[in-house]
Formats: sequence, structure tokens, C-alpha cells
Amino acid sequence: MQRIVLASSNRGKLAEFNALLAGSGLEVVAQASLGIDDAEESGLSFIENALLKARHAAQASGLPALADDSGLCVPALGGAPGLYSARYAGSHGDAVANNARLLRELDGLPQDRREAFFICVLVLLQRADDPTPLVVEGRWHGRVLETPRGVGGFGYDPLFLPAGQLTSAAELDPALKNRLSHRGQALAQLHARLSECGG
Ligand code: IMP
Repeated sequence: MQRIVLASSNRGKLAEFNALLAGSGLEVVAQASLGIDDAEESGLSFIENALLKARHAAQASGLPALADDSGLCVPALGGAPGLYSARYAGSHGDAVANNARLLRELDGLPQDRREAFFICVLVLLQRADDPTPLVVEGRWHGRVLETPRGVGGFGYDPLFLPAGQLTSAAELDPALKNRLSHRGQALAQLHARLSECGG
């Protein structure tokens, strides 16, 4: 079994990646379990940050590394919250405050200017100096609601109305969210690319 290191300490993601890669001969281990700390996310784009995270984990572990970076982008706000999605209102991971700030920033904007998309970039490096990283990207389009709806999911889910759906992402059945979402789309592409490579 070839081990690859996941440049994230999120348990949900570890389970998701291991489920996706079941039967592929790859086993994903969290970087924290190898004593590897978080990389500095100093890039100016999702892809740069995913690469920085994967390179840091590959360098520190000597193993192939998988990293993801994701967030919500609102074109009417110049792409914000974007790279700063997790700490839009200041402190990391305060979803209630982040959602409140998003509503304030969009206050008074008409429906057609409330369009938004989630993005997820995944990067797989064979080694820290791999010149041909495998890069895939998923985008989930929709718009920002005027009031939060639902208690499921996480982050901006209560404010996100996916295109073609009648409920917010927080009200969607989790299995359906996983299929439709930016992360689901990126994971499906990763799966397809690894199958092509015989991975
Ligand atoms: P990370 O990639 O886990 O660091 O996610 C960055 C931030 O983007 C999260 O803290 C959330 O605020 C937001 N985000 C990413 N994916 C989702 C999602 O599926 N639903 C809601 N918010 C998300």
C-alpha cells in the first residue's frame, strides 16, 4: 500500500479522500499524524496555496502529498471572501461572523449581483520538487441568499443557494451536497485522473 500524506488536519477530509481512493492501492494519512505542522498559506490564489501546502507536506514527509484549498468567491465583491473565506470576519473558522459580514457587504445588492461560486483546487505532488503536479479544480455556482437557511453543512452553506436547487446548501441532503459541490467535482476529477494513470 503506497502512503500519501494529506496536507490538512481536517478529519472529515481524511475520511472523504480515503473513501475516494479505496481500492486504488493508496492510503491517505493526515500530516498531523506524522508531526507535520501547517504550511504558511502565502499565495495569492487557491492553486498557489494548494501547491504550497502539498510541497510543504511532501518535503517534510518524503511521501507523495495531496493538498486542497477552497473558498467562496463573489464576483460583485471582487472575488471576496476568496482566499480569506475561513477568516473573513477576523477570527479563523467563525462561520456565524463570516456569514454576517458577507450579508453586510452585499446589503442592498439586487439578485443578479449576488452570484457566487465555491471553488476547490486539489494538488497531488509525487515529491517536493515534482515539476508536473496533478491539479484539478471544481466550481459550484449559485447565489448568496438574503437570510441564512438550514443548519446542515458548514461555513457559508446556510447562505448559498446552489444553481438549480430550491434549498440552501445547508438544507441539502449531505450525499447530494457531496455530489454537486466544488469538492465533489474536484474529487471526481482526481479519481478520473488517477484511474487514467493506473493509480
Ligand atoms: P478550507 O479549504 O477547508 O480551508 O476552507 C476554507 C473556507 O471556505 C472554509 O472555512 C469555509 O468558510 C469555506 N468553504 C469551503 N468549502 C465550503 C463548503 O462546502 N461550504 C461552506 N463553506 C465552505
